[in-house]
Amino acid sequence: MIKQLFGSLVAVSALLGAASLAEARTLNVVASFGVLADVVKNVGGDNVNVVSLVPTGGDPHEFEPTPADARNLSGADLVFVSGFGFEGWIDRLVGASGYKGEPVVVSDGIAARQMEEDGETVTDPHVWNSAANVGIWIANIEKALAEADPEDSAAFRANAERYGKEVADLDAYAKKAVAAVPEDRRKVLTSHDALGYFGREYGVTFLSPVGISTEAEASAGDVAQLIDQIKAEQVKVYFFESSNDSRLVRQIADATGAEPGGELYVEALSPADGPAPTYLTMFKHNVDLLVAGMTK
Ligand SMILES: [Zn+2]
Repeated sequence: MIKQLFGSLVAVSALLGAASLAEARTLNVVASFGVLADVVKNVGGDNVNVVSLVPTGGDPHEFEPTPADARNLSGADLVFVSGFGFEGWIDRLVGASGYKGEPVVVSDGIAARQMEEDGETVTDPHVWNSAANVGIWIANIEKALAEADPEDSAAFRANAERYGKEVADLDAYAKKAVAAVPEDRRKVLTSHDALGYFGREYGVTFLSPVGISTEAEASAGDVAQLIDQIKAEQVKVYFFESSNDSRLVRQIADATGAEPGGELYVEALSPADGPAPTYLTMFKHNVDLLVAGMTK
């Protein structure tokens, strides 16, 4: 009797062992920056370990990879980038790391926004500032995770549906909130051109002294022209960005009388105790701050 019981306990624990081994399959995933890492975490759930290359609060344009980043990459099952030229440093890093795969470009399928900058046509990479675009990210992330780990594809699908619904609700929230602002007041000044997709999706005009990369420098002539434009168009509010220098935008604001509207998180999450530790909280924070600033 005791022997039988013991035998069946061994069988049960062997079964449990096998089950927990199957559950323990976790993908080691690297994402280029914090906003993307958070979205990947939401789709991957318990089946992924996600590391962000750009550290919390860092400026992704000015990121300088270290040997530790190359080591993270070499051990990764999957690497996710946003794409559209955002991660100008990724190819060299992948080459140096020995990572064998191709990074997954999550912005594939998004209608790119082109703009003129210093006489050249450039693609705006800041797609995540439209929540509708992040719906496309989610679909691309789910597909890549399911290909890498087919056994957990049902979990990825369920996560993508649940999280995708939250992002779609946020998109609807932003549309409604901005629509309540009179059209002639939907104009704001920011540090760099990170909110073009927000502007296109929700109907706000953004002006900024530098282009789509924080690495660019505005000339004195550009700044003078922008000051004239802000006065002519009666832009009344300006915003700082959490991840870069605000001196220039403050100077321009002083010269035009625009009032400060607060700090936006355009391409970096806040620490856990800040106002924007996840993509969902970041996006809602930006919508609420922008709407409050435009209606002040
Ligand atoms: Zn940027």
